[in-house]
Amino acid sequence: AGELYVVATPIGNLADLSPRAKDILMSVDVIAAEDTRHTSKLLGHFGIRRQLLACHDYNERERSEQIVKRLQAGESVALVSDAGTPLISDPGYHLVNAVREAGLKAVPVPGACAMVAALSVSGLPSDRFFFEGFLPAKGSGRRKRITELADFAHTWIVYESPHRITDMLDDMFTVLGGDRRLVLARELTKTFETVLSGTVAELQKILAEDTNQQRGEFVVLVQGAPKSDILDEEVTEEALRIMTVLVEELP
Ligand code: SAM
Repeated sequence: AGELYVVATPIGNLADLSPRAKDILMSVDVIAAEDTRHTSKLLGHFGIRRQLLACHDYNERERSEQIVKRLQAGESVALVSDAGTPLISDPGYHLVNAVREAGLKAVPVPGACAMVAALSVSGLPSDRFFFEGFLPAKGSGRRKRITELADFAHTWIVYESPHRITDMLDDMFTVLGGDRRLVLARELTKTFETVLSGTVAELQKILAEDTNQQRGEFVVLVQGAPKSDILDEEVTEEALRIMTVLVEELP
């Protein structure tokens, strides 16, 4: 049977397509792409001509069956998304799951991933972190989710599109306060790559004063809840424990 190659593509700088990714895209029978027009431009740049098959959120389940059949018939297939690593806030989960369920092989061809690139230069603790992907698009849902993440003790990471970045910062201010530390990684690997760090309030000010800083694609990294907050909780627990013991001792 053939193999499914899950191939990472650049997130801006085309030189980030690895030589191995290029070889594989050049040699597979078919490339399953999130957006065939987008991918044909990328392939055109590298002089790669392959059959393309649309595989996006709306047809992924039925496509998966067809692709599994093609793999079983001995064809090799590459999966790509518009940018970065497939399945990371991108289609591909159902396909990879179907392929593995069918006892076939999915082979990773690693490369760019915006969240990993951002974390690697953020200066925030990177030993443990949580990847949230996109927050809910609506304000109320977004604030609810930020509230759920507020006490998380380690770095957490969200993807955000340019038209929501200031609203999202406002929601972070409302829920987390102005002092939480953030990093905004914008347009990574592209001409206007910028990595800003500061408190929520400082970053709100920078973006308000320079609207160019609101443009492009963002990874937002949030420092985990400060130790003192977590300590407070531990102190409260300890106090409760002592109280309980004391109450039991009372006549
Ligand atoms: N699969 C991709 C990956 O591996 O990173 C992510 C795809 S997701 C649909 C697109 C989001 O990723 C953008 O809204 C942005 O949050 C982030 N992103 C993608 N490229 C980026 C870049 N060059 N700089 C900053 N963020 C980027």
